[in-house]
Amino acid sequence: MNSNSTDEAVELLQRVFGYAAFRGKQEAVVSHVMTGGSCLVLMPTGGGKSLCFQVPALLRPGLAIVISPLIALMQDQVDALVQNGVAAAFYNSTLSFEQKRKVKAQAINGELKLLYVAPETLNALDFRAFLQSLTIGLIAVDEAHCVSQWGHDFRPEYLQIATLRQELNSNIPLIALTATADPVTQKEVRTRLGLTSDPVFCSSFDRPNIRYQIALKKSGKEQLFEFINTRHAGEAGIVYVMSRAKTEEIATWLSQKGMKALPYHAGLDQNTRRTHQERFLRDEGVVMVATIAFGMGIDKPNVRFVAHLDLPKSIESYYQETGRAGRDGDPASAWMVYGLGDVVQLRQMIESGEVGEAFKRLSQQKLNAILGFSETVRCRRQALLAYFGESYPEQCNNCDNCLEPQNTWDATLPAQKALSSIFRTGQRFGAGHLIDVLLGKETERVVQFGHVKLSVFGIGKDLKEKEWSSVFRQLAAANYLTVDPDNYGAFKLNEQSWTVLKKGQQVFQRVDPVTTKAEKKARKTPVQPTDWNDANTELFQNLRTLRLELAKEQNLPPYVVFHDSTLREMASRKPSNLSELALIPGVGEAKLKRYGQAFLEVLRT
Ligand code: ADP
Ligand code: ZN
Repeated sequence: MNSNSTDEAVELLQRVFGYAAFRGKQEAVVSHVMTGGSCLVLMPTGGGKSLCFQVPALLRPGLAIVISPLIALMQDQVDALVQNGVAAAFYNSTLSFEQKRKVKAQAINGELKLLYVAPETLNALDFRAFLQSLTIGLIAVDEAHCVSQWGHDFRPEYLQIATLRQELNSNIPLIALTATADPVTQKEVRTRLGLTSDPVFCSSFDRPNIRYQIALKKSGKEQLFEFINTRHAGEAGIVYVMSRAKTEEIATWLSQKGMKALPYHAGLDQNTRRTHQERFLRDEGVVMVATIAFGMGIDKPNVRFVAHLDLPKSIESYYQETGRAGRDGDPASAWMVYGLGDVVQLRQMIESGEVGEAFKRLSQQKLNAILGFSETVRCRRQALLAYFGESYPEQCNNCDNCLEPQNTWDATLPAQKALSSIFRTGQRFGAGHLIDVLLGKETERVVQFGHVKLSVFGIGKDLKEKEWSSVFRQLAAANYLTVDPDNYGAFKLNEQSWTVLKKGQQVFQRVDPVTTKAEKKARKTPVQPTDWNDANTELFQNLRTLRLELAKEQNLPPYVVFHDSTLREMASRKPSNLSELALIPGVGEAKLKRYGQAFLEVLRT
């Protein structure tokens, strides 16, 4: 960046947004776009895509058009800009005729710098004619992957964008942004938006502030409660579960335990869904217990945790869902519990689905990948990024496997015993019965089926019940056995099983952690939510209370007033006057003027 434009952009970043420096690729993108260049920007969720077009929009002459597919989000983004003193508005079907007329008048009078529009608006000829009457300085296309016909989020209206640009003036810089980075989508976006000869700015897809943790599922909901209570009490989070009924069950249960928990799924009526979503966005510390119907277009920055009580169906889903945690860059958790039941259930679901063989195979492969990820003893971040083709050379020290290194053991012999027990009992039973046989338990069923007479009866007394369960789980996860969908999830042998039974294929498995009494006791003593330093004090809570009041007065979500990180900095630095307050990240000129005195008063007490 030439130093003049750098200075100008950094000065604006500081004055308007209250941030001292650009992050990662932001500076390069801003420099390129403000001087009239077009580009594609690939950044993960929370990577800071908005500033990539908002800063150039303010530095270029004329109006910037921002095309965004999520009507629900437009309001939030515009509110946030207005709070920072930026002349921004949106134009979509939720506006009344009168409101639309007003926005148009502002644009014509040159009173706006950013105009957010919904893609369907672009199809209206009169609106396009209106745009042609304006000086447009920049076109930004958010969620640019929506132009891809092969993606899940395809929006036909996005195909109009290239034409629109021609109609306006093909020299207007166009910046397209997305968090979907696979090469096929990338190529399609560039072609369809006319960006084939423009640069692509691609960030790492790592989310360094997210701590990945996967534990063995025992009681499920009690583990969840303990996790929230000890790590994230009073903080906002999302809990993903597989079924609608379970969202309600878990939400009720957490509520009974004193948490602010709400269910969300596609079967709830629209009104309930809307109120629950509103509460999640506008109240502090709401836990949303949801199916995957919840999440798209939620860009609440201070979601402190995403918990999975059931295994997601692929690594892609896991990355996308966990990515909703910690958009603000503060420490956040991606926590999951998983067990043998998940493997059996998901394998069975895929096999019994009424879909083609090719689709089943693909689904099983995706499931294998997420199972492998769950069972791995290597750094989770390395494994996750490697799946997306990115190498992460170091140990991250922010995942369970890095923080508490896990061991593997040679489980070949137990694996052979386990598989033999499947074979000898006729490939008709699940783990529970097989373990009874291996342990030599004379249960009613074992006796009834005559399994006491088998050669495998009692050959597994060297391991405990839990350890056998772990062996079976990992065999199922690594596809060393098949789950029979026609027989209540009984285990059957497959080709891979025989490589272990006959060909001496070695099997290495992770050693499941045992909970010691000391650990159990330690867990009962509540620790501070998230590892904040001394800033998580009464003062921080008082600042939060003031923020909530100010937000409610204006009918805004609290994070639009100030981010948590801004309040935390205030609490720890304790500025005593306006000029000290102005140095806190996230306090720009407009917010200083609007809220400065009120926050200083709380800081003084
Ligand atoms: P994305 O759209 O890529 O998911 P956002 O644009 O919403 O990400 O930015 C994520 C968060 O990071 C926001 O809370 C934003 O205020 C913050 N942020 C972005 N860039 C910076 C920066 N340079 N300095 C400090 N905070 C930033
Ligand atoms: Zn790690």
